[in-house]
Amino acid sequence: MKTQGTVKVRLHRGAKQIGGVCTEIFSDDTRLLFDIGAPIEGEGDQARLDIDGVTTGTTNCDGIFLTHYHGDHIGEVDFVDVAIPVYMEKHARKILELQQDYKKGVVGAVWADNVNEIEIGKPIRIKEFTITALESDHSAANSVMFLIEAYGKRILITGDYRLHGFYKDKVEASLMHIGHVDLMITEGTNISKETAINVPYLTEQALVPVFKEAFEKYKYVFLLASSSQLDRIASFSRCVPTGKYMITDRYQYDLMQIYDEGRDEQFKSYKVLYDSEHVLGKAERTGFGRVVRANHNFQLIVKDFFERHAKDTCLIYSMWSGYINKLSDVKQLVDYAGDNLIRAHVSGHVTKEDLERAIDIVRPDKLIIHHSSDSNNNLYLPNNTIKLTIQDNQEVIL
Ligand SMILES: [Zn+2]
Ligand SMILES: [Zn+2]
Repeated sequence: MKTQGTVKVRLHRGAKQIGGVCTEIFSDDTRLLFDIGAPIEGEGDQARLDIDGVTTGTTNCDGIFLTHYHGDHIGEVDFVDVAIPVYMEKHARKILELQQDYKKGVVGAVWADNVNEIEIGKPIRIKEFTITALESDHSAANSVMFLIEAYGKRILITGDYRLHGFYKDKVEASLMHIGHVDLMITEGTNISKETAINVPYLTEQALVPVFKEAFEKYKYVFLLASSSQLDRIASFSRCVPTGKYMITDRYQYDLMQIYDEGRDEQFKSYKVLYDSEHVLGKAERTGFGRVVRANHNFQLIVKDFFERHAKDTCLIYSMWSGYINKLSDVKQLVDYAGDNLIRAHVSGHVTKEDLERAIDIVRPDKLIIHHSSDSNNNLYLPNNTIKLTIQDNQEVIL
């Protein structure tokens, strides 16, 4: 391995905001980007990224690696030179392709079909750089972390993650075996004072008894969740009692099929059916668990059940609580449910305490916290870890 050559890091965006992260790791002759997201509306710098050699000028970038398919990590791939190869975990790529296909008429570009598939634990070599996808756990299924090695330096980029999901043990084991890390770049969504207060420490597993109780009390149980909450929807499907039906629309059903591919048996979805007339007729007689989203079609369905079966119907609200006041379609569904609303949600992001734990497991020499509106928050850090406070576009030499 060549040891000459310097590895450098630059955050194009994300040093002071949650949305629109983009991190560059580079040397004199190699440039790699990790995520290139769109800003969250109303949060932080809103201008589209303008990166020479990537979005403008002569192509000068060896690859873009995506941790997961949330818009704040992939939203600006649309504006990248098409000659630059893009890489993504193989199941995540298929999920993204299906999402893009489904929304084709609404959001335009479909590019996921040209993305290169990578596998967890199988390194990719680009010039002197080796990039390996590692296990993660986030509200977008099949998210990954990346380990980047070059010229004797090792960098861990976590992407969005948590230590309170179904894969907590896998993620911790992966971090424990990572070896020496020179720089850890971690998300810090939940470390700011404002966000931390609203994050009760609940695990994804803790929602299971909530789902089960809903099925004991109600014949018709609607689950309002984002279509990419695949771990949760699968978990919900496993709670549907024998004799009742688990129903989604065709799009969600297709997502579940990809989700189940290669997944450990215990986390797969269970007996999911899509909403054909035949299934709906039978399900109304026996009872069901049914996944809905906040759109007009689902509003009509939910309204109809609350009107005809007020006592037998409930809605499980399984999204961030802030959407109720922010999105009128969500508010409408919550209003239909009235007193039969059950809240069951946990964050996709690591808590402050678990972030300290993750850092303590890795014990990196240097630490950068991005994807946070308040990365200055006091954290308990291991003795030999130095936290770097940097600005967007500032260069860090390792
Ligand atoms: Zn995310
Ligand atoms: Zn994010």
